[in-house]
Amino acid sequence: MIITRQKKIDCILDLVSEGPVFIVGCSECATLCKTGGEEEVIKMKNALEDKNIKVTGWIILDPACHFLNDKRLLKDCQEKINNANKVLVLACGNGVQTVAEIIDNVEVIPGTDTLFLGEIKRISNFEKRCEMCGECIQELFSGICPIARCPKAMLNGPCGGTIKGKCEVNKDLDCVWIIIYNRLKEKNQLDRLKIIQKPKDWSKSGEMKQEI
Ligand code: SF4
Ligand code: SF4
Repeated sequence: MIITRQKKIDCILDLVSEGPVFIVGCSECATLCKTGGEEEVIKMKNALEDKNIKVTGWIILDPACHFLNDKRLLKDCQEKINNANKVLVLACGNGVQTVAEIIDNVEVIPGTDTLFLGEIKRISNFEKRCEMCGECIQELFSGICPIARCPKAMLNGPCGGTIKGKCEVNKDLDCVWIIIYNRLKEKNQLDRLKIIQKPKDWSKSGEMKQEI
């Protein structure tokens, strides 16, 4: 799931300026992250109206990153969109761009920051799991990704800064290299750590307009 964080209201107020505003949410990731579902869109509408900023309407796209669906759903709101000066999108960076591709007569602005591809641990608690590098190598690490889960993206073992099993960069995280070591040890696969990994070829993550 794409993890997003809603921008601070002061930042959103700066972006929307005097309005009027049309608000767009997303039925999937942003709903689960509680950054752009129906509840948050209505809250945002009320917050803007409290500041005397007119809201011409709102919609939840299903999901915001689906170009053809968005085109169909936004067509039904055309008049409300035309009456706005800004379209505030409470979805991931992909959703913002999809909406901006469709709406070309009103400025489209992001209401969230997109953080990472992650796993839901508990409600409103997410952990990063993938950097979308374009060439998955988790088979080497027993299904654990050091690129996404080590802040230094160490590929050939730990950095040496681990403190009592915790990451030196973020003490809320367990050092992923200890997790990898323990998992490989359990499976009697520690030999895999002797294979030197070459630097990651990040050009693989940059393949554009790829059809699967
Ligand atoms: S190796 Fe690459 S694709 Fe696989 S989980 Fe890690 S970042 Fe994602
Ligand atoms: S302590 Fe572990 S997880 Fe943190 S940066 Fe170093 S190797 Fe990576």
